[in-house]
Amino acid sequence: MTRLSRAAILAVGSEMLTPSRLDTNSLFVTEQLNRLGIEVALKMVVGDDRDELARAVTMMLSRVELVVCTGGLGPTDDDVTREVVAEVLGLTLAEDAAMTERIRSRFSNRGLPMPEINRRQAMVPVGATVIENAHGSAPGLWLERAGRVVVLLPGPPRELQPMLRGLSEGPLRDRGPGLSIVRRVIRITGRSESHTEEAVRGLYADWAVAPIPIAATILASLGQVELQLSARATDAGAAEAALAAATADVSAAIGADVYSTDGRPLEEVVGRLLVEQGLTVAVAESCTGGLTTSRLTDVPGSSRYVAQAVVTYSNESKTSLLGVPAAMIEEHGAVSEPVARAMAQGMRDRAGSEVAIGVTGIAGPDGGSPAKPVGTVAIAVVTPHVIRSRVFRFTGGRDMVKFQASQAALDMVRRLLQEP
Ligand code: ATP
Ligand code: MG
Repeated sequence: MTRLSRAAILAVGSEMLTPSRLDTNSLFVTEQLNRLGIEVALKMVVGDDRDELARAVTMMLSRVELVVCTGGLGPTDDDVTREVVAEVLGLTLAEDAAMTERIRSRFSNRGLPMPEINRRQAMVPVGATVIENAHGSAPGLWLERAGRVVVLLPGPPRELQPMLRGLSEGPLRDRGPGLSIVRRVIRITGRSESHTEEAVRGLYADWAVAPIPIAATILASLGQVELQLSARATDAGAAEAALAAATADVSAAIGADVYSTDGRPLEEVVGRLLVEQGLTVAVAESCTGGLTTSRLTDVPGSSRYVAQAVVTYSNESKTSLLGVPAAMIEEHGAVSEPVARAMAQGMRDRAGSEVAIGVTGIAGPDGGSPAKPVGTVAIAVVTPHVIRSRVFRFTGGRDMVKFQASQAALDMVRRLLQEP
């Protein structure tokens, strides 16, 4: 029996050829296959088009052992995956009476008759194995021909995901290469991509010759750098252990700039620190317009530690809502460390929280000056023990400045809470 070691993913659906829809299923499929040591060699998106679909499947079958198709299994005329793939593999379709009954009963459970077109979903290529769909009417199919496997799964993620998980614990695992690829995302802030690379480059040489080699990729995005590590081994536990050791190497090399070693976003890391230390936070924002608070409240359970927030965009509101002295704004300017500090302190007094953040800056494109160009942002964080403030100079457009300011504010909280 051929081992399935390389795969191709084919996303079927004309909507994903428009600017508004993205194929996300393939990311999930890749993750699941990688865990089994199956490498994804290529992927593709095709519309609901018989010719394109047939050509894509034919090409993929000439290159890899496993093809995973998602979408186009529905009952309507534009759902052609089942028929086209059967044709490419030279398999004839026959109605599976038991499946027709299952689909019929899904409808009758909702008090509806089964539309005749749904019969199409019960058409099964001879020799195929049906993959049950607990969350929808379109069953999946496992097709085999000359040692190659084609798996058809429905498009909706909530239907596909449990089905693929089931396969990963059964036939896919049994037919895979018996290898595990495990990955980790280490997230870093406060240093550039090249400074990160410089700090970890020495580790690469050691990792390359280790019993379980570690592969590393550095990705820079706004306000952070991601280091993605992966290890492959026959034993998943051993691969995990090798990754854990590599992660510790990175943490030792980079220190406090590492904010997450398991891919968690910054707002979640900050949330967890607040919970662990039994603290609440309040936020006074100007140039970020609520973004910092929005990110904090993206985390489920954040009501336990987010006390209150205000957006004080005008100078008057900084005075009336936070008690920042008008004379201070006059003397130092609204974008200044003293004002950021007064915002944080005023916020903390009014909210009765232990921690408070003050953010004030110039997001642009107008409003800059030679002394305070666009991208200048003053941030202060006050805790029961200290107050800390800093002026940043961010680059980029308005949305980029706003995001980097929120990132820096959250990161200042993290660093303060992680100090011994
Ligand atoms: P059914 O018709 O039974 O829902 P189907 O297999 O025909 O299943 P599609 O009609 O192709 O599925 O897709 C249904 C929905 O699933 C799409 O509107 C889209 O929201 C989502 N979807 C399809 N393919 C993908 C994909 N590759 N990534 C993310 N979402 C997808
Ligand atoms: Mg479709």
